[in-house]
Amino acid sequence: MNEKVHMTTALIQRDALLHNIDKIKKLTNNSHIIAIIKSNAYGHGMRDVAKILEDSVDYFGVSNVEEAHTIFLEGVKRPTISLSGFYSHKELNLASRIRLECVVHNHEQVDILEKCQIRSPIRVWMKIDTGMNRLGFSLNRATKIYNRLNECKNIVKPINIMSHFSSANNHEFRFHLFTRFQLNRFKRFIIGKEGRSSIAASSGILFWPSSHLRCVRSGIVMYGISPEIGKEGSDFGLVPAMTLKSRLIFIRQFNFGQKIGYEQSWIIEKKTYIGIVSIGYGDGYHNCHSKESWVFINGRKVPVVGPILMDMIFVDLGEKPHDQIGDEVIIWGKDLPIEKAFNGHEVSCLYRSLSQLTSRVKRRYI
Ligand SMILES: *Cc1c(COP(=O)(O)O)cnc(C)c1O
Repeated sequence: MNEKVHMTTALIQRDALLHNIDKIKKLTNNSHIIAIIKSNAYGHGMRDVAKILEDSVDYFGVSNVEEAHTIFLEGVKRPTISLSGFYSHKELNLASRIRLECVVHNHEQVDILEKCQIRSPIRVWMKIDTGMNRLGFSLNRATKIYNRLNECKNIVKPINIMSHFSSANNHEFRFHLFTRFQLNRFKRFIIGKEGRSSIAASSGILFWPSSHLRCVRSGIVMYGISPEIGKEGSDFGLVPAMTLKSRLIFIRQFNFGQKIGYEQSWIIEKKTYIGIVSIGYGDGYHNCHSKESWVFINGRKVPVVGPILMDMIFVDLGEKPHDQIGDEVIIWGKDLPIEKAFNGHEVSCLYRSLSQLTSRVKRRYI
């Protein structure tokens, strides 16, 4: 059989990405959109996603200067923001040269900005910590830092402000209260400040209209996936942008008690046909916590069973399957949204599964 037939492929649907952006614009009353394309655009391919979305969004958000440099070299012209800013004079110089906007979230970065000689001043997004306790200046120091940045000749004014929610995807009362608390703190800080302000990421976009503040950061929703456990992108009118598929490469009947795999570690629990699908952790396929996972073969959901190997997974095809070697297997996407493929897994598992897809997976844009 032809080798190409077995290759794991991620089909990325341009229309779905554009549709999701439209949906986000409607939801946020045409707020500015920072399209988050870090980590290879959540596995969708940073360069291509940037090209597809360039005319539809206001900014791109990437993790660091290196990612920003990559899309700059690809000729992407939209303003881009490095979400962790820069970490040295050298990186700041590069940021200035490629007109990269930088998040400033710690004192070292402020020091570098004050001391550095750069060709042209840069735009910055001062990050404040409203309760996530991750990056950002604590509120009791924030005003002082804001004033320092305002004095800095290497910065274009006005200064923009950013923060991040810790639990906006969870509707439990205590998390609801905490999100409200963060939002109130943020709003208090931005009063009277001229620059742009952004606190809403995907969950803010969907669940907290009062957090939109005319500038939102769209990550996972843009790829058509729900940030809330127990929901699917389609519940919010989103369309999954990626369909990941592979093929059945082996089928065999097993009896109760037969042992399979390395060190014969996996014991069959009932008489059934087991199929082998050509995808594994070498492609980035995980099921994070070994909870149940599913794939879609010939019109039905089929459970993933046994260990995940580097190049293959096992699926339980049942007692009398009609499947044949070479049949297409949808790992997730069309017919089986990733939220269903990893039913019951934490939302972080979806983020991880997407962003860890390796270069072995061929991306095709349709
Ligand atoms: C990754 C990231 C986002 C996107 O988060 P989603 O939940 O995927 O929308 C937004 N803001 C920052 C600062 C991020 O690092």
